[in-house]
Amino acid sequence: MQSIYDLTYEKLQEVFIENSMKKYRADQCFKWLYRKLASSFDVMSDLSKADISFLKENYYINTLELVDKQIAKDDTTKYLFKLNDDALIETVLMHYPFGKVVCVTSQVGCNMGCLFCASGLLKKQRNLTSGEMVAQIMYVSKELSEIDERVRNVVVMGTGEPFDNYDNVMDFCKIINHDKGLAIGSRRITISTCGLADKIYKFADEQVQYNLAISLHASNDKLRSKLMPVNKAYPLEELFKALRYYSERNNRRLTFEYILLKGVNDSYEDALELSKLLKGINALVNLIPYNQVDELEFKSTDDKTALKFYDWLYKNNVNVTLRVKHGDDIDAACGQLRAKHERDSA
Ligand code: SAH
Repeated sequence: MQSIYDLTYEKLQEVFIENSMKKYRADQCFKWLYRKLASSFDVMSDLSKADISFLKENYYINTLELVDKQIAKDDTTKYLFKLNDDALIETVLMHYPFGKVVCVTSQVGCNMGCLFCASGLLKKQRNLTSGEMVAQIMYVSKELSEIDERVRNVVVMGTGEPFDNYDNVMDFCKIINHDKGLAIGSRRITISTCGLADKIYKFADEQVQYNLAISLHASNDKLRSKLMPVNKAYPLEELFKALRYYSERNNRRLTFEYILLKGVNDSYEDALELSKLLKGINALVNLIPYNQVDELEFKSTDDKTALKFYDWLYKNNVNVTLRVKHGDDIDAACGQLRAKHERDSA
């Protein structure tokens, strides 16, 4: 049986048509799923009995099993979910003045091997299906609906490399974006990649309006290859060639994420090199405080140096923001909560 959350609006219509059901019923079904947050086909009162039987025989509505939930002092909530094959994944809900933001996991484990990241401690086991990503949003949406709130923004920044699971991530975005459903605006969806240049070209050609964020973290190949093995496959020159191609076609501002790692990438020279690298690119640099990971050596840059780094970039004409820490008192770094559970149950 397949999760109905796997199906885009268009695909759901196809299923209805192919199975001699009325096309407009697919529209109703989609609205039940995403506007009324239905957890069962039985409640879909404007579908015929035959339609409901068909759906029940062939599809299920994927509900994730909650294994753990941590709530930080600032209300950042981290969910640990168990999938049908017992794999554990994390989803994070953050509360911003402009609305609720959900950080979605795209793979079980990750093969990118970034040295500072807790997610990479577990190699990729498999890709998530689009339905499993949708299910993360639906779980949080259902919870938020109880307090008359909704998911406003989605960032594909949880465990996994979204461009290493390209098609499912694209379907996921299409489903949550659809105006008959959750209608999360394209510009409120952000995909974060460590820099798979070949997929950046592909993404550029899709002509979609989702935000693209690049995890940069270093502004020269020597350091970046050390921190992020993906840089050996797609060094900065190739990455930026792809990004320029994207910019030419999309006229969208690119976000560059830059974790500040104490003594590694936070010097004046680093800031200067970064500003040179970004010259002429419509870019925003998001400086991110590092969430320290027990198993790893890296330390977070202190606040004073972080502010200086911000200033150095600012003075060199870089659009820059310094992100405040969220969920500092819980296991908020990608993969930390899962890593802890696996340690505890070992
Ligand atoms: N693979 C994608 C998306 C997942 S990682 C990517 O690389 O963009 C999401 C972001 O969190 C990336 O910028 C990543 O480098 C960063 N990150 C990983 N571990 C972190 C940590 N311990 N503290 C802060 N940011 C971290």
